[in-house]
Amino acid sequence: MRPTELEILKHYKNGVGKNCLVCDEELKGYWTDYNGQIKCRTCGMTYQILGCHLKDEYLKKNNITSDDIAERYCDNFDLLPIYRDYYQENKKILPIGFYMGKPPWSEEDDEHFYKWLAQNADKYRVEYKDYFYWDTIIKLFGSKNED
Ligand SMILES: [Zn+2]
Repeated sequence: MRPTELEILKHYKNGVGKNCLVCDEELKGYWTDYNGQIKCRTCGMTYQILGCHLKDEYLKKNNITSDDIAERYCDNFDLLPIYRDYYQENKKILPIGFYMGKPPWSEEDDEHFYKWLAQNADKYRVEYKDYFYWDTIIKLFGSKNED
């Protein structure tokens, strides 16, 4: 289930503990090209570790300030169910995180992820309709029915 707005806000305030929310390993990562963002070296989930990088608009809307936000939090928390399911089933690096040049995952990693997403579209499409170009993904990577 996609986390509710309230659950997401709660996570931003409480932050992440010692372990990664996707792979359950101790959270250790390497920098991406986005300020303050790291990528878990085991699964590839992304986190902010230098405090609040949320938009002012979001803070204002929720009547909070950057001081209310944890120093370390998952910046893809809304997508956690998809990324966790994918990693736990496939044990392959998540093709996410901001890189200006070549990212630290391969084209094959990208394809593997989107193929899995296409195959699991029935499970996630409704809740995550605005997150992915579902029609394009299914067209390019097939669906369960076409296998
Ligand atoms: Zn991880």
